[in-house]
Amino acid sequence: RKRVLSGVQPTGSLHLGNYLGAIRQWVKNQDEYESFFCVVDLHAITAPHDPKRLRQETIEAAALYLAAGIDPSKSTIFVQSHVLAHTELTWLLNCVTPMNWLERMIQFKEKAIKQGENVGVGLFDYPILMAADILLYQADLVPVGEDQRQHLELTRDIARRFNDQFCNKKAKRRKVFRDPAALIVTEGARVMSLLDGTSKMSKSAENDGSRINLLDSPDTIRAKIKRCKTDASLGLEWDNPARPECTNLLNIYLAVTEGAGATKESVLEEVAGMNWGAFKPVLTEAVVAHLEPIQRKYRQVMEDPEHIEQILTQGATDADAIASQTLGWAKDAMGFYSLGRK
Ligand code: ATP
Ligand code: MG
Repeated sequence: RKRVLSGVQPTGSLHLGNYLGAIRQWVKNQDEYESFFCVVDLHAITAPHDPKRLRQETIEAAALYLAAGIDPSKSTIFVQSHVLAHTELTWLLNCVTPMNWLERMIQFKEKAIKQGENVGVGLFDYPILMAADILLYQADLVPVGEDQRQHLELTRDIARRFNDQFCNKKAKRRKVFRDPAALIVTEGARVMSLLDGTSKMSKSAENDGSRINLLDSPDTIRAKIKRCKTDASLGLEWDNPARPECTNLLNIYLAVTEGAGATKESVLEEVAGMNWGAFKPVLTEAVVAHLEPIQRKYRQVMEDPEHIEQILTQGATDADAIASQTLGWAKDAMGFYSLGRK
């Protein structure tokens, strides 16, 4: 079986983009692949964070994985900082990666602008930590949203460079890292902000009205969709470059009704003649109905914190076994002196 690894940062509430672009895919594929799902708390501190909230948000993110349908008897769920190899491999890879590879990262540029003078070295280094996450588990596939494509390319470049440098013929060594491929969903892969159809829906966006959180109440969802950005054109259509908001809202509608058999064509047929006033309530109801079972399950899961801790303890043990092994190979290849080994 192929192995997959993916994660979400515990920074604030998970939103529809995280779900449609990533988690929904994880759930669908967990029978087919050997899966590792990580709450990437070390990534979460690359932006200024509130220490009083990190712990709780980590637990909540894990609970949302469970509520969304990740099954701990099939998949490994763990918290990144519980497996020490992530930080250690990051350091090793830091020393193998040219700085100008990181300088090209679009997400860094976008996020650095927002953080202004406070931007930390960690934000710059974020893609290397992500590379370590993936490479430690010898993942074949990484299910992520479109926004992570560039980081995944970088991961492949780093893996190749490390293998070339330390595991070449002269060193007579098997490759340490496997080349991971992106598993990117096409429909709903990139959910855009409710307030701007050209920028992605994001946890870290300041305005909460820009996103639909998985735990938003029906009233909140209704209000957000009511206030979301639209345009003055008549009727609704897909893929008109002049109407990014329209495409985004239809995409969301399709993504939440797909399970009931909707297709791009059937959605167009249903809504082409509608104006915004008619479409918004339809969209609202579909989103609310889609999130209702996840929210119900979430409340159940959160009632039993001990159970969550049990799952994360087991997850950390299982993840650590694999990650430590890869880390050991990487250190050997780089020539570190390890005690007790010739
Ligand atoms: P932040 O703004 O703090 O970076 P985020 O909303 O981008 O938060 P992440 O934790 O960085 O969330 O990403 C988790 C997963 O969700 C990744 O696989 C990412 O590709 C996916 N994802 C994030 N935003 C979107 C989006 N708007 N559409 C589709 N997928 C998304
Ligand atoms: Mg992100």
